[in-house]
Amino acid sequence: MDNMFATFLQTAGLYDFKEICEDNITDLIELLKGNVKISAYCKECKQERVFSMKPIEYYFETGPEGNEKISCASLGEKIELLQNMIFSTKVRQENSSVEEWKWINWQIADTTRLMKLEYICSMNEEHHLDYIVLATDNSMMKIGQYPSIADMTFPELDAYKHVISKEDRKELGTAIGLFASGVGAGSYVYLRRILERLVYQAKEAAADAIDNEMFEQARVAEKIKMLEGYLPDILVKNTTIYGILSKGIHELSEEECRKYFPVVKECIYQILGMWESLRKRQADEVALNKALNAITTSIK
Ligand SMILES: [Zn+2]
Repeated sequence: MDNMFATFLQTAGLYDFKEICEDNITDLIELLKGNVKISAYCKECKQERVFSMKPIEYYFETGPEGNEKISCASLGEKIELLQNMIFSTKVRQENSSVEEWKWINWQIADTTRLMKLEYICSMNEEHHLDYIVLATDNSMMKIGQYPSIADMTFPELDAYKHVISKEDRKELGTAIGLFASGVGAGSYVYLRRILERLVYQAKEAAADAIDNEMFEQARVAEKIKMLEGYLPDILVKNTTIYGILSKGIHELSEEECRKYFPVVKECIYQILGMWESLRKRQADEVALNKALNAITTSIK
């Protein structure tokens, strides 16, 4: 089963928050104990790796002046103990305590307020993936991450480096970065612009097969329809995509932009993927021709 908080750390943009409640506290405990492994792109290994988290330690002050610090296992274990002894609904009912459910008390509030979650690459313990979260009585907010979501998404763009222009690559990075920070309309504007440029590139490939004037007057969705054979079939034949693309940016809410972003990004990847496989086939043909020519010469 996926751990809700691990998923949150990996997918949420900065300043997104996740509720902490009795239903998901077990997931949080497991995460803080360091029992949850995640799979993520390692910037150093330059590939997908399994990462484990260093359990968060918890210190409790003792001694006559409260000035000695002793380590009391992990923070996860301490939270689990608090649930089992005091806060869970079951315990509160047994003790007929009316207090509402909690996950922190005064003992740990200082430790949980600001937490750094350090993940370590399974191939090399010097490779890190760090998250910083700010926690309250009932939620946690992601306020930091390194490497950034954008850093970790860029490698997927490498697959298309031969067929994407510098400008498109740069703007795609900006779009992904904005989306990662929770910006809907702003990121979507970049994405639409890139898609429109790719559509024009396909039009150049189609050359005279398409009437220039009609093409210029058509909206993006219609342009894609006209480019059948020059764009991936999935784009040309899918009416949902037309629905999404025929809406102008000014007609969309911030939330719709965020919802459509992954779909439009995938359309862009589909186009680039189609061009990349064409390029590869042509390169393979050139190489084969060369090899054949060399043999022909040696046979003579
Ligand atoms: Zn690594």
